[in-house]
Amino acid sequence: MQRVDSDVRGEVLEDADNARASDVRGGGERLQATRDGDEGAEERHEDDAREPAVGSPFVSAYPPFSLWSPEHTPAFERVLASAPSGARLGLYAHVPFCEERCAYCVYLSRRSPRPDALAAYVDGLLAEARLIARSPFLAGRELAFVYIGGGTPSLLAPDGIARLLDGLRSALPWSTGAEVSFECAPRSATPERLRAMRAAGVTRSSMGIQALDDEVLRLNARIHTVDDCMRALDALGEAGFEVVNTDLIAGLVGETERTFTRGLGRLLERGPDSVTVYPLEIPENTPLFRALGRDALAGPLPAPAARRRRVALAFSTLEDSGYTRISAYAAVRDPERGRFGYQRDQYHGADVIGLGASAFAYLGGVHHQNIIAPARYLERIAAGDLPLGRSYALDARGRCMRELVLQLKLGRCDLDALAQRHGVDPRDLAGAPIASGERTGWWRIEKGVLLVGAQGLARIDRLLPDLYLPEHREPAH
Ligand code: SF4
Repeated sequence: MQRVDSDVRGEVLEDADNARASDVRGGGERLQATRDGDEGAEERHEDDAREPAVGSPFVSAYPPFSLWSPEHTPAFERVLASAPSGARLGLYAHVPFCEERCAYCVYLSRRSPRPDALAAYVDGLLAEARLIARSPFLAGRELAFVYIGGGTPSLLAPDGIARLLDGLRSALPWSTGAEVSFECAPRSATPERLRAMRAAGVTRSSMGIQALDDEVLRLNARIHTVDDCMRALDALGEAGFEVVNTDLIAGLVGETERTFTRGLGRLLERGPDSVTVYPLEIPENTPLFRALGRDALAGPLPAPAARRRRVALAFSTLEDSGYTRISAYAAVRDPERGRFGYQRDQYHGADVIGLGASAFAYLGGVHHQNIIAPARYLERIAAGDLPLGRSYALDARGRCMRELVLQLKLGRCDLDALAQRHGVDPRDLAGAPIASGERTGWWRIEKGVLLVGAQGLARIDRLLPDLYLPEHREPAH
């Protein structure tokens, strides 16, 4: 799934379940360890009191989407017309269809697609792949990673999955050993579809579970049940993927600490290779945000500090169970095998082709997003045009800052390597906020490498905007 522009900020809301979340202790030390009931030790910071209950502090791109503009698409076209670069190259393809819309969904997705609509959309993706493959910038280059996201790509029928992957591979070949990821949902991850994925070369499946409690799933308009999830997990295990990733969300409507920890325990009984845990966010363009505005929530909403606490609890449980944390939001059983190349390579400056309505690309230092509306996207493709939406070109300072910001989400950034790569030292671009984060204890620098601690990782998306270059700050910040 790719996140779309959704950065809003709002007031702090509390609920009975998590009233203690607003109890932020002041004075003395900036970091204090407190213990809340059975949630385990959790350090709080004075700034956490201003944590918004709604909005989306999640940093998925640098600079923020609000700076990207249709006026800058010529920069993207110039990159496509230029000579190939030596950077690693990957591909993201977006399939914007789901059975139903989840209450918190921020992604581009249309409900209940008909089979002919799915087939027409796959035709569009393949036509776009052939169109962009003619670009001089991509000549002779092989993909090192591929990611099919959505939406729910596993809604495609088995023959549609094969047609999509085979067609993409003949337009934009990928190397042997490339990581090929495919997103699944519990009800559509059937053995037939999973076999089609494996046969077409998928190495990594990623399933959005989000919660393992039937009432929490229902309150958040998820259409599957716990039984569906467990059946799908068994099918994924039997299908023979190199990596099975599972996504959870902490802080869903109706969730309590008990339902969250019980769900995590059930998931760990199946032993997935990778577990991703995000705190719930409530961007403005979601049904959940609108329900909040009408005071029509389906159940109690955990407060931001409780969401963060549960993420921390999840990672301490995962580490106790033998998992290794590889980013602010993911832990894997085997760091070698579970390495998530799609994310890691992007955060280290890889080029990424984006196919599909609303898909994001990053090529030659230029960010790009395709047209958002699927119908208009298909019209442009049918006319033989690239579906250009909006772009943003980064100079060397911007590229250096982008990689600093994104790599900090992985918990580690080699500042010396960044300086060498871009000819700009990140310590010259963001010396004051880096020093401030060191003083507070969010991170430390050892031999030119910035290492983010657990407390820094727990708040990383709120800390990152302090590093931004002045020209990339949003007015509200
Ligand atoms: S499964 Fe839910 S959250 Fe994911 S894209 Fe579909 S509607 Fe959105």
